Amino acid sequence: MNEFCDVSLPVPMDQAFTYRLPETLRHRAQRGCRLTVPFTGRKLTGVILEVHDRRPAYALREVLRLVDEQPVLDEGLMRLGAWIASYYCAPLGEVYRGMMPLSGETRKGKVYSLTDTGRDVARQLILGDAETEPSLQLLRMLESRPMTENYLKTKFENAKRLLTALEKKGFVEMEDVEADRDPLRASSDRLRVELIRFPEGGKFPKPERELLSYLELHPGSHNLAEVETLVKSASVSARALARKGHVSLRTEPLMRDTPAAVVPRLLNEHQQKAFDAISNALETKQFQTFLLQGVTGSGKTEVYLRAIDAALALGRNAMLLVPEIALTPAMAGQFFSRFGDRVAILHSAFNDSERAEQWRRIRAGKAGVVVGTRSGIFAPVQNLGLIIVDEEHDHSYKQAETPRYNGRDVAVMRAHQTGSVVVLGSATPSMETRYNAEKNKYTLIDLPERIEQRPMPAVELIDMRLEFLETRKQSTFSRRMLEGLHGRIENKEQTMLILNRRGFSSFVACRACGERLQCINCSVTLTFHRRDRRMLCHYCSYAEKVPATCPKCQSEHLHFLGVGSEKVEDELHREFPEARIARLDRDTAGGKKKFESILSDFREGNYDILVGTQMIAKGHDIPNVTLACIVNADIGLGLPDFRAAERTFQLLTQSAGRAGRGSLPGIVLIQTINPDHYAIRYAAAQDYNGFYEKELQFRRAMRYPPFAALANVLIRHEKQEQALRMSAELGSLLEPAPEGIKILGPAEAPVQRLHNEFRYQLLIKAAHRKTLNEQLNRLRVHAQSQKWSPTCLVIDVDPLTLL
Ligand code: ADP
Ligand code: ZN
Ligand code: ZN
Repeated sequence: MNEFCDVSLPVPMDQAFTYRLPETLRHRAQRGCRLTVPFTGRKLTGVILEVHDRRPAYALREVLRLVDEQPVLDEGLMRLGAWIASYYCAPLGEVYRGMMPLSGETRKGKVYSLTDTGRDVARQLILGDAETEPSLQLLRMLESRPMTENYLKTKFENAKRLLTALEKKGFVEMEDVEADRDPLRASSDRLRVELIRFPEGGKFPKPERELLSYLELHPGSHNLAEVETLVKSASVSARALARKGHVSLRTEPLMRDTPAAVVPRLLNEHQQKAFDAISNALETKQFQTFLLQGVTGSGKTEVYLRAIDAALALGRNAMLLVPEIALTPAMAGQFFSRFGDRVAILHSAFNDSERAEQWRRIRAGKAGVVVGTRSGIFAPVQNLGLIIVDEEHDHSYKQAETPRYNGRDVAVMRAHQTGSVVVLGSATPSMETRYNAEKNKYTLIDLPERIEQRPMPAVELIDMRLEFLETRKQSTFSRRMLEGLHGRIENKEQTMLILNRRGFSSFVACRACGERLQCINCSVTLTFHRRDRRMLCHYCSYAEKVPATCPKCQSEHLHFLGVGSEKVEDELHREFPEARIARLDRDTAGGKKKFESILSDFREGNYDILVGTQMIAKGHDIPNVTLACIVNADIGLGLPDFRAAERTFQLLTQSAGRAGRGSLPGIVLIQTINPDHYAIRYAAAQDYNGFYEKELQFRRAMRYPPFAALANVLIRHEKQEQALRMSAELGSLLEPAPEGIKILGPAEAPVQRLHNEFRYQLLIKAAHRKTLNEQLNRLRVHAQSQKWSPTCLVIDVDPLTLL
């Protein structure tokens, strides 16, 4: 009588665990529901795999609590999770945990985290020795992750007092998670204010009266932050008036800038053909994969929107996945204006309760169009008919921690399991996807021209070696690039200036002995940040002040080398004092909100030049941009990674695609010291097919994907001997190499030390996916039987980077 259940728990082990269900839960527990169970002295939340009557031979512990009355993962998602666990060699329980949207729902109350200063202090403690002082211990605990006040109270007798003191010193900051759900306390740029009724009489302070008259004169709802710029103290007044019931305040993070409903455009001939192919496939109700390959500015989005219309018209729901950085308010706005409240947006900037809210709407069938980033693929959409993956080649679809899945490939699998149509869109498809199209696994549809036959931008390569010979100066900007920038500023047109991030940073080196200052945890060079004169590790965020003398030879001749994006910005200011310049990069962006506001300011023409790393190269459609500059095209080419050429080609082509999207034609200037490299030549010619053919030869000759199934096996340990021994063990396990398998390594990983661990790696190439999977499982079994700590062995199937 349903006395037992098998549970998948978020632990790095492969098996399921059996528990006894208390009487009261026996009728309610179902596959796909979460429950809480005792596990080695802790309480864990897992997912029920099966409820059954098979009494095991050993004594069982009892389930503590059933979290859901309805399965949180439906049968389709349960199966999808099982596929991910097996394909990516990841523990099932960890996969399910990652699919859970509501994981944060139970998080409540005050959450404390370190400030930048606090982090610095905590870091120095590791070197010093202050184990006995409780407030310092607390800092060290917070280094690993933010923690709730309630949790900290269980660890420290006087947690509250300690935290308050640390907060005063500016070492920790507190976020009230509950308060976040209360619209009255949300920040103004996330709020919309609207007049409910103009008060008849009554006394109001002056600012409140001013706000009321403003709202009366301007009917409709307004972004509160914007009103604040027009009406003094609007934020405070709005909250006061909301309490009195005269205005309404709603959180609507992505609804702002929403234009009035738009009429669908007339498709051009190529768009129409693409749409017809997709809509015919939708009518067959069968799984099919399309590659929609359209040059930049060819109007792919319009095809997506129409395809979604077609799916909805057939009574089926649709999902759109976009790269992390592309999900901007402008983008979301297009969807709201087209599909209204049928859209659910799954955005990483949302807090947990907002995400949970969206999830429930989707689950209840109230939102038939879901737009999200990578993990959006797990949204509980019922009756799915269409999945679109925009910019399918984008690396943000690959999750960097276990389970290391690629959202695009999971999308194809989900479409397969649900009999849906999947559309992969890109101007620069990944080698794998294009190869699948070639082999007729996917259907290729193309958009070869820009909208309204606008010309592709003219691309010029600038050979920086010649520039140096002619000017005798090692400068960041060539004369041609300066001239181009100058012209735009004069004509009031805009420029995007893109820096190839990897290696595009400044570092500190000793002129006497050549030592480069490195991270103490990782074998990587520290990046110099001039704003706060600190050196920062981009892998583990270790930071230190620039020392006065070289730590190796004590010489005082420390020297700053390389060019950072801050320095580029400074140089631009010097060259063009009158220009309005904005900079966006991951380190300084100051969070998603800041990023979006800079971007929308740029879109509105408040800046002449936007400087940024690859993150600005993707997707944005800003008509007034007529010049795209790529300052250093080559940096990525030298990396020991078989995707270096592909990544460079994609970056250059996408960057070039930012220019000339409106009615004004665009030009692209690429500075390089390898003008003959095929990735650069084909990008300059905007010749995807040429690049693809050439790159395919290389991949075939070297047996890299798409000609092999590839996995990167990383072994890491704090002690070097241990890491070496373990990697040797795995190496010999695969020796002699089984039929159809080629092993590279074990060898030192390109970054040999990271986060204080030594790293070795093995690369496995297999002719068949199945053999790869078998061998990887042998390695995992070995690791488990030897009781290796689960963090020692990292398996990355279909890796996007080997670094
Ligand atoms: P892509 O994603 O292919 O680079 P977009 O989807 O951003 O291109 O479209 C480029 C521009 O063309 C956008 O401003 C879009 O609004 C416009 N556009 C798309 N389709 C049409 C059409 N059929 N007629 C006119 N303009 C269009
Ligand atoms: Zn030195
Ligand atoms: Zn580091």
